[in-house]
Amino acid sequence: MARPKILVVGAGFAGVECMRRLERRLGPAEAELTLVTPFSYQLYLPLLPHVAAGVLTPQSVAVSLRRSQRYRTRIIPGGAIGVDLKSKVCVIRDITDKIINERFDHIVLTPGSITRTFDIPGLAEHARGMKTLAEAAYIRDHVISQLDLADASQDEAERRSRLQFIVVGGGYAGTETAAYLQTLTCNAVKRYPRLDPSLIKWHLIDIAPKLMPELGERLGRNAQELLERRGIEISLGVSVARADDEEVTLTDGRVLPTRTLIWTAGVAASPLIGTLGAETAKGRLVVTPEMNVPGHEGVFALGDAAAVPDLAKGEDGAICPPTAQHAMRQGKAVADNVIAQLRGQPMQPYVHKDLGLVVDLGGSDAVSRPLGVELRGLPAQVVARGYHWSALRTGVAKTRVLTNWALNAVAGDDFVRTGFLSRRPATLRDFEYTNAYLTPEELAEHVAKATAAQVG
Ligand SMILES: Cc1cc2nc3c(=O)[nH]c(=O)nc-3n(C[C@H](O)[C@H](O)[C@H](O)COP(=O)(O)OP(=O)(O)OC[C@H]3O[C@@H](n4cnc5c(N)ncnc54)[C@H](O)[C@@H]3O)c2cc1C
Repeated sequence: MARPKILVVGAGFAGVECMRRLERRLGPAEAELTLVTPFSYQLYLPLLPHVAAGVLTPQSVAVSLRRSQRYRTRIIPGGAIGVDLKSKVCVIRDITDKIINERFDHIVLTPGSITRTFDIPGLAEHARGMKTLAEAAYIRDHVISQLDLADASQDEAERRSRLQFIVVGGGYAGTETAAYLQTLTCNAVKRYPRLDPSLIKWHLIDIAPKLMPELGERLGRNAQELLERRGIEISLGVSVARADDEEVTLTDGRVLPTRTLIWTAGVAASPLIGTLGAETAKGRLVVTPEMNVPGHEGVFALGDAAAVPDLAKGEDGAICPPTAQHAMRQGKAVADNVIAQLRGQPMQPYVHKDLGLVVDLGGSDAVSRPLGVELRGLPAQVVARGYHWSALRTGVAKTRVLTNWALNAVAGDDFVRTGFLSRRPATLRDFEYTNAYLTPEELAEHVAKATAAQVG
């Protein structure tokens, strides 16, 4: 008898935890496991600001998918561009652009999220995100190149604009990015004796009235004061009105000459979710507490892409925030539910009480709120780095990260610009492949043609 086919889409926090658990708990004869992912690694996203700042190498946060004793999954290198729930077919574009129609009996959707944008003139062309390894590497090179170009320029206005940097988004991703990159430029400028350090200006902007409200009133204020003491100008209740090649206009009327706009103003579920034609809540796929898509047996979704009910919160309609903390645990829970469904056993709802937040601002600067305890300074930094370090999946990744942290603390950075991505288009769309997906109509047509060809 043919083995049931389980297809996992996405190899992030949720997908990898799910896949590893399926490999461990299902016998090879019980199911055929397939994973579709554009990359051969799991990206440890919370440490991306460390990569952008050169504290960690890109390899340290790219955890191999094949380094596991129980690894036996078939991995399709590519991205899912549409899922037809009726015919149970996932349409995949592989890394050579070949289209593959992958049939499944059970599907676990974990494609994560993309950078959320708004209809602001110039944003699509000029904003850079912090969601992929390529974006982090690109931003690092871009920031260093601004120092190189400002150093070489004889034009005072050009120098000023190249040395002014804007980060939009006062959540933990944007705050950590601004903090780490400001440290980078602060340290790097010592190697540019012709540059006036006082010209370097970092702005952190958010439309909300507070930075990282999930930290609570006091810790959020601590983080803000700490960054302001380091010279980062924080503007709250403000957003971007338009972005141009050489300046950014804010909604409060200020026009900032700059060549750098880093956009981390929230996330939106992967566009793959829109191809399903199923119910969504704020763009995330609606699922039951068991992470099953209602009305579609064998279809599961979780992580940033799904609106998983947050039962631990005890509030009606609460959904889990898009964090790695939830995604990893949901990955394990969904694997158990897929296995339960295969074996005709009852599925279990997902329940996890949030453990809190850690925010690493570089050096010994940090604020953390583990299990409701407020920490700042070195203790907060130990908790932040300790948490991330222990969450890395393989021993090799742990060793790489620890060695890199130690090396950086002792020897610092050489601020080398690699130039690898300098000629590449650098928009959010290019890095996050947001236009790769089929529309529901294109998907229906594609599946109909594929079915007709099979019958014929
Ligand atoms: C800078 C930054 C800092 C953060 N810090 C923290 C933190 O401190 N703590 C915390 O809990 N969370 C943090 N987060 C959030 C956390 O990283 C996400 O919530 C988490 O990654 C979500 O897990 P996921 O599995 O849903 O998605 P991801 O981990 O993003 O994985 C999605 C996977 O799907 C793949 N994929 C995408 N589209 C397709 C497709 N069409 N077909 C196939 N594969 C696809 C991607 O390549 C990726 O491998 C941070 C995020 C960022 C960006």
